[in-house]
Amino acid sequence: MQDTPEVCVLRFGHRPGRDDRMTTHVGLTARALGADRVVFPDNATQSRDTVEGVTGRFGGPFAVELSGSQKAFVRDWEGSVVHLTMYGERIQDVEDEIRERHCETPLLVIVGGEKVPFELYEHADWNVGVTNQPHSEVAGLAVFLDRLFEGRELDLEWAGAERRVIPQATGKRVEER
Ligand code: SAM
Repeated sequence: MQDTPEVCVLRFGHRPGRDDRMTTHVGLTARALGADRVVFPDNATQSRDTVEGVTGRFGGPFAVELSGSQKAFVRDWEGSVVHLTMYGERIQDVEDEIRERHCETPLLVIVGGEKVPFELYEHADWNVGVTNQPHSEVAGLAVFLDRLFEGRELDLEWAGAERRVIPQATGKRVEER
């Protein structure tokens, strides 16, 4: 988000077919809720195309990338690392610390799909639980970003959009440019 170091979301693991919708939604949620970039595994080309299409129509800036080696991406990341997992520390206990660190350094937020390797838990600066109940990577990411940005992401302005939704109490109004 503008005026803060980068927030990059890494979707760890992707099973083509089965995970297409979930991986796409990780990207759309990252974009809508203030992250600057999402990185998908290199077999998630369909999700990349969908998120790029939405960014073209509804605006940016937001980057979508594929990575051939997610482990290397995490290893080479220059900044702090949060891994969202139901086994982690309670978000309400660590959010202040994470937010303070993010004032100074870029932040990588990792969400899993299938099983996440244990080395990722060890590499993360924080393993963070959005509750310690099982749910979804999309829900976890949404709550995490909202806590990180303290709601400021809800007022984001989008540049270069082909269309803009005008909020309505009832019905749909879209402005085409
Ligand atoms: N069984 C898998 C494992 O043990 O790694 C997790 C599968 S879960 C459907 C997919 C992803 O959702 C997880 O990797 C995690 O990123 C996210 N997730 C699920 N529940 C969560 C929670 N309570 N807090 C934070 N993230 C969560």
